[in-house]
Amino acid sequence: MGRQIAPRSVRIGISSCLLGENVRYDGDHRRDRFITGTLSAYFEFVPVCPEMAIGLGVPRDPIRLVGKPGAIRVVGMADCEMDLTDQLRSFGIQTAQRLKDISGYIFKSKSPSCGPQRVKLYPEDENTAPSNDGIGQYAQAVMEYQPNLPVEEDGRLNDLVLTENFIERVFTYKRWQYLRQSVVTVARLIDFHTRHKLAILAHDQVAYAKLGKLVADAGNRELQRVADEYVHGLMKTLRRPATRKNHTNVLQHIQGYLKVDLDRDDKAEMVDVINQYRLGRVPLIVPITLLKHHLRKHPNPYIDGQVYLNPHPAELMLRNLI
Ligand code: SF4
Repeated sequence: MGRQIAPRSVRIGISSCLLGENVRYDGDHRRDRFITGTLSAYFEFVPVCPEMAIGLGVPRDPIRLVGKPGAIRVVGMADCEMDLTDQLRSFGIQTAQRLKDISGYIFKSKSPSCGPQRVKLYPEDENTAPSNDGIGQYAQAVMEYQPNLPVEEDGRLNDLVLTENFIERVFTYKRWQYLRQSVVTVARLIDFHTRHKLAILAHDQVAYAKLGKLVADAGNRELQRVADEYVHGLMKTLRRPATRKNHTNVLQHIQGYLKVDLDRDDKAEMVDVINQYRLGRVPLIVPITLLKHHLRKHPNPYIDGQVYLNPHPAELMLRNLI
């Protein structure tokens, strides 16, 4: 098994206003109770307000995105000559360089600085309606500089599936960062991949096969390049939330390892519980708990080592409602 991840050892970048800091243009904040309550017990948040950092005070004139995708500028709402694009982008790059140890980032949605997607974008032609095709320019610079970093925005964390997905990605990335602290060898890469196999399978069967092939060929190629391709493929794969169908497939796969150990009644119960999950009648935690119960009595080194069974702290109860 890999190194244990201690509570609050995982650092996550965050838009300062989400923690309740009065840094918005109007002196207000956007404290998010789920973040400041539940998540803060498990993560060390690193607050950043890019607009304050580049010298804008509180209160300040609001800003907005103008242009088209690929050619976006951040300008003052009242004064379009005030162009902050370069300042926000270079501060984003500096921050991404400085915070190499963060394992995720929670951005404030809809902000022309921090919004990671779907930010209101005003065309140059004032007669055309704005679209939601903009990206906050600070957030875009951070994401370009650290393309594998798990990111999410506050609004999407109201969705349980997306929250579970984000936290799973954060812990996976943290385990990868631990691996990169030591010398990456073919054996360590294989071990890392082996432990994540079923987690990957729950997201995408095709990517599962591709990543397996990449690791199997690792000894024949430059290892640094393989490691870079691997983490990029892994984090991209995990971005797509695992479906109920794929989870069911993985649960049945694990059940297969127990088939010679369980008696007829236990087998029937296991099949029934997995089926109840497939039909959406019980949450994921139910079949997982039953599988773990049987695995304690009938250990299997390969399955016991699977991150899939313990992807994040159980106390977060992220699998209790999905
Ligand atoms: S959204 Fe970003 S720039 Fe705006 S107040 Fe929050 S942290 Fe500052």
